[in-house]
Amino acid sequence: MPSRSGTSIVLFTRDLRVHDHPALVAAAGSRRMLAVFVLDDTILSRPYAAPNRLRILIDSLTDLRRALRDLGSELVITRGRPADVVRDLVRRHGVDAIHCSADVSAFARRREAALAAIAAEAGATFTAHPGVMLVDPALVRATGGGHFKVFTPYWRRWSQVTPRPVLGVPDLPPPPDDVDPGALPTLGELTGDAAATAAPLLAPGGEVAARERLAWWMDGPIEDYADGRNRMAEDATSRLSVPLHLGCLSVTEVAAGLAPRRAGHEAFLQELCWRDFNHQLLDARPDLAVTDVRTKDDRWRDAPDELTAWQEGRTGYPVVDAGMRQLVAEGWMHNRARMVTASFLTKHLYIDWRHGARFFMHHLADGDLANNFAQWQWTAGTGTDSRPNRMFNPVIQGERYDPSGAYVRRWVSELADVAGKAVHQPRTDGAAAASLFAEGTYPAPMVDHREARERFLSARGALED
Ligand SMILES: Cc1cc2nc3c(=O)[nH]c(=O)nc-3n(C[C@H](O)[C@H](O)[C@H](O)COP(=O)(O)OP(=O)(O)OC[C@H]3O[C@@H](n4cnc5c(N)ncnc54)[C@H](O)[C@@H]3O)c2cc1C
Repeated sequence: MPSRSGTSIVLFTRDLRVHDHPALVAAAGSRRMLAVFVLDDTILSRPYAAPNRLRILIDSLTDLRRALRDLGSELVITRGRPADVVRDLVRRHGVDAIHCSADVSAFARRREAALAAIAAEAGATFTAHPGVMLVDPALVRATGGGHFKVFTPYWRRWSQVTPRPVLGVPDLPPPPDDVDPGALPTLGELTGDAAATAAPLLAPGGEVAARERLAWWMDGPIEDYADGRNRMAEDATSRLSVPLHLGCLSVTEVAAGLAPRRAGHEAFLQELCWRDFNHQLLDARPDLAVTDVRTKDDRWRDAPDELTAWQEGRTGYPVVDAGMRQLVAEGWMHNRARMVTASFLTKHLYIDWRHGARFFMHHLADGDLANNFAQWQWTAGTGTDSRPNRMFNPVIQGERYDPSGAYVRRWVSELADVAGKAVHQPRTDGAAAASLFAEGTYPAPMVDHREARERFLSARGALED
């Protein structure tokens, strides 16, 4: 056992858990430990600091503080700039080791560089540990050394890497005396708006709820995942994206519970690989949220009214509208619906993917720089999709992945009485069409599929595709 250092800091970021936490385990080896979370003013001043994710952040900090206290420690919650807070703590408590979890965004890299500089100044050590991704981008390099631009070869190479072992919850040393733990923030304080609310059906966040959901998922539903993952009306996906985003679950621990050669488990592992794939893309392309990865020189349409209709779920394509309304109500949307709604905006309406991605970021509780922007670019055909001009037909997608129409009926109340899969084309269903036209309740499709397809493919110079 290495000799115990004096006082360490573990700076929590988006790794808000006590299970399988390499940085926490390393910090726990000291005599005194400061576990710190900084409500970062820079992040809070940006539009991405949206109520749904902040609500989940508060839930997650509540669980983390409780878990650390149960272990004899404390979570210090403070507001400011992480580097300033850490520099001050290092001075006041004579800290000799700083730990955090490594992350890939440009923002996280700058934070790590600042912590390394503070440690160097103070004669302390700084270590950025694994804990956010399953496989660090540096361990999976394309032939020639760069990042991967296509998923399948990445998946092959990624599958060969042995993940690190899963760590238990460590015994924790006490915090230094006279530490002010600070108060848990409220949503009003974080948004600067006392009246701010989260989505009405937002599921609670935090490590406790996440571990319960994981146990439920692994205890059966995962077995059907290979088929079930596309059935939009059912609770047939893990819904672990929110806890994975804030690190309330360790992706390494989740993957370690998977069994080889079981269809549901293999399909699920592949989705966790997509998560790493997107992170290695962000690592290589820090401008992922603003710049086309592989530009098609699009001259996107400027159509604010159409953008608003899409945002409000009034496109006249039921499955698109259902997805958009689920997003606003739950702060989460089924993956199939994300693909269809994003394709509709960027291809049927030919509106810039950045508008859609920002709207998703405002609402998604799992809204994530790597996953959201990489998937938007994939869908828009400016990213890593090897078939960049593919276009989802929303009616066919609805009939295929919501065959009973239950998903649409749940979210589009105007169509609640349209039976069966006719709900995907209500205006061609005699009885439904008559009442919809009469009441003017549900809009006609805002674009004709065939015309939209021709407009898009001709804009891309790909009509012959
Ligand atoms: C336009 C668009 C935007 C998206 N934005 C986000 C986002 O901001 N944050 C986010 O976590 N996912 C995003 N995704 C990916 C995916 O839709 C969600 O991860 C998934 O729907 C979450 O539900 P789940 O946890 O039940 O997923 P499951 O199907 O149970 O998958 C298990 C886990 O694998 C990961 N995963 C699954 N699919 C993907 C994927 N395509 N890319 C990366 N990781 C994946 C997630 O961590 C997920 O929790 C986006 C997809 C699209 C098409």
